[in-house]
Amino acid sequence: MSIDNFILSDPSAKEETEFDLIEKKIINCAKCRLSQTRTNAVPGMGSRCARIIFVGEGPGRNEDLQGEPFVGAAGKFLDEMLASINLKRKDIYITNVVKCRPPGNRDPRPDEINACLPYLRKQTKLIKPNIICAMGNSACRTLIDPSISISRIHGKFFRKKGFIFYALYHPAAALYNGSLKDTLREDFLRLGEYLRKMTVYN
Ligand code: URA
Ligand code: SF4
Repeated sequence: MSIDNFILSDPSAKEETEFDLIEKKIINCAKCRLSQTRTNAVPGMGSRCARIIFVGEGPGRNEDLQGEPFVGAAGKFLDEMLASINLKRKDIYITNVVKCRPPGNRDPRPDEINACLPYLRKQTKLIKPNIICAMGNSACRTLIDPSISISRIHGKFFRKKGFIFYALYHPAAALYNGSLKDTLREDFLRLGEYLRKMTVYN
């Protein structure tokens, strides 16, 4: 029997996991108004056993069209930042606070965030990462502290509910702003140091 046949006949390979079920639910979700204007919901992408996950605000235009997170210019820049600390997309899981694109890329509204948050909680519960990186104000306020501003907490670690949270500027905000770009680069290097110390990826 060839290895391909062996893999195809492995029943566990076909089994629908709890994670698959959440993705399906997200793809078919109509719990908030964003379902009416989206092209595709964007559940997330990457390793389901990642030690580190990255959470953005919500899908943009390209993500909405392709159904995948961070595929546009901000995604390219994020890949560059990840590469600077030897991480690839396959090493991490990436998702967003809201899984459907807010029209015109407006900020997600509180009721939309509340409707969508159970999905992120479930994803996090199944992945069980050590570190959750919140990128941008929306993600930091939702995950770390509703009253904070990213300019005050970027580059800092927070311990909460058994996870370590790390606050980062959003790559889309840093993309066209030279000084934010440098700050984001430095914050990524600090994250790389932290990971090395934790020996998560060694
Ligand atoms: N910005 C986000 O917050 N998320 C994406 O998936 C893409 C851009
Ligand atoms: Fe459902 Fe979240 Fe999309 Fe709203 S944003 S429709 S809650 S998946």
